[in-house]
Amino acid sequence: MTDTQTPPTPSTLERPRAKIQLHGVGKVYPGSDVPAVADLDLEIPEGEILVLVGPSGCGKSTTLRLINRMIEPTSGRIIFDGEDVTTVDADRLRRRIGYVIQQIGLFPHQTIAQNISTVPRLLGWDKTRTAARVDELLELTGLDPNQYRDRYPKELSGGQAQRVGVARALGGDPEVLLMDEPFGAIDPITRDRLQNEFLRLQSELKKTIVFVTHDIDEAIKMGDRIAILGEQSVIRQFDTPERILAYPVDDFVSDFIGSGSTLKGLNFERVRDLELAADWPIVSVDTDRASARQLYDSSPEKWMLVLDREQRPIRWVQDRHLDDTSIPLDQAGARVEALVAPNATLHDALEEMLLSNAGQAVVVDEKGRCQGILDIERLADVLKRLRSQAKKHYEQLAVAEAAEAAEVLAGAGGTGSNGAGAGH
Ligand code: ADP
Repeated sequence: MTDTQTPPTPSTLERPRAKIQLHGVGKVYPGSDVPAVADLDLEIPEGEILVLVGPSGCGKSTTLRLINRMIEPTSGRIIFDGEDVTTVDADRLRRRIGYVIQQIGLFPHQTIAQNISTVPRLLGWDKTRTAARVDELLELTGLDPNQYRDRYPKELSGGQAQRVGVARALGGDPEVLLMDEPFGAIDPITRDRLQNEFLRLQSELKKTIVFVTHDIDEAIKMGDRIAILGEQSVIRQFDTPERILAYPVDDFVSDFIGSGSTLKGLNFERVRDLELAADWPIVSVDTDRASARQLYDSSPEKWMLVLDREQRPIRWVQDRHLDDTSIPLDQAGARVEALVAPNATLHDALEEMLLSNAGQAVVVDEKGRCQGILDIERLADVLKRLRSQAKKHYEQLAVAEAAEAAEVLAGAGGTGSNGAGAGH
C-alpha cells in the first residue's frame, strides 16, 4: 500500500476557493546562502484547516510568517482575496490575520481580559463592545468569564493559557488564523482535549486556518488538507489526510508518515474493535425537517447521515440540503458510497473513505443497517497508538541490543583479565 500509486479521483469533493495564494514566494535570511523557503506556490483553501507538516528546519515557521509578512519575502507575491498584498501596509494585513504560537506570549502584566482585547483596542472598539467580545471569546474557548477575565497569565495552567492565546488571536474576528505548533508544549492528554475543542470551535467559526506542526498524527487529526513539506518548504504532497495515508506519492512522504511499520498495522486492525465516532448526526428519513435541522446544528460535523426505515444509510446531507424543503431527505445531498463491514480491516475502511463525499465510511451490519461512522479522527487515534507501540518495540530492541553488546564487552573484558590472570 505504500507503493506509488495513482489515487482514485475523489468523487464530487469540492475544493474551496483559495483565500490566500502564494506565488513563487521565497525567503533567504540575511547571511545565508541557501533559501529557507524556495519558490513556493501554495493555495490556502477558504474556511478549512490547512496543515503544513514536515521535518524540523524544513521551513514551516518561516512559511507561516511569510503569509502575514512578519517576515518579508525576498521574492514572489502574496494574494489575499484576489488582492496583491505583497507590498501593502503589513499592520493592516495583520489585523485580518490572527496568530497563535506555542509559547503563547501572553503579556504577563496584563489581565486575561486585557490580553484578549489587544486587537479590538487597536481597532478602536469602544469599552462596551470590547468587554462583550472578551466574554464571548472566553466562553467560546471554554473558560468562564467571571472566573478568568481578571486573572493574570501566571495564574493559569498551560492548557488554559493556550485557550487564552486562541481567544486573543480571534479577538478582532480575523478572517485567517495562523497557528504555529499551538499545542506543542502541552502534555498529551490536555493536548488531545484542546485539539478536540478547537475542531469543535472551527466547525462553528469556519475560519481559514494554516496550522504548522511537525507531528504527522496531529496533522492527520487537524487537517482538512495537508501539505507535506521537504527542505526549503518544497511541497512534496498536498492532499486530504485520507488520500495522503492511502497514496503517499513517494518514499519521502511514506517515510514521513511512517508507513513502514504503522500504516501496515491497519491491515491487522478491524473495524469492530474500534469505538466509533459519537458526534455524527444521524436521522431517519421520516424525521421532520425542524428536528433534523436542530440535530445538525448541535453537531460539530459538517455532514448528516440519513437512514431509510430499515436503518440503512442512504444519503449524506448538509446545511443547504436541509434548507431546501422541496427535495425530500431521501433524495437530497449525496448518495452514501463508502460502506464497511465490522470485520473489514482498517486499511479497507481507509480505501472506502476515499470514495465518500463526506470523507468517512459508514459501518453496516450484514443486513446493511447502520452501526456507526468511521472517520479520519478515529483512524488517526489508531495510527498514533500503532506508532507509539512501534516506537516502544524499537526502544526495547535497542535496550536488548545494548545489553547484549554490554555482555559481549564484559565477556571480552572477562576473557582479557582471565587471560591476563592466567599469564601471571
Ligand atoms: P521549521 O519551522 O520547519 O522548523 P524554520 O522555518 O524555523 O523551520 O527554519 C527554516 C530554516 O531557516 C532553518 O534552516 C533555520 O535555521 C533557518 N532560519 C529560521 N529563522 C532564521 C533567522 N531568523 N535567521 C536565519 N536563519 C533562520
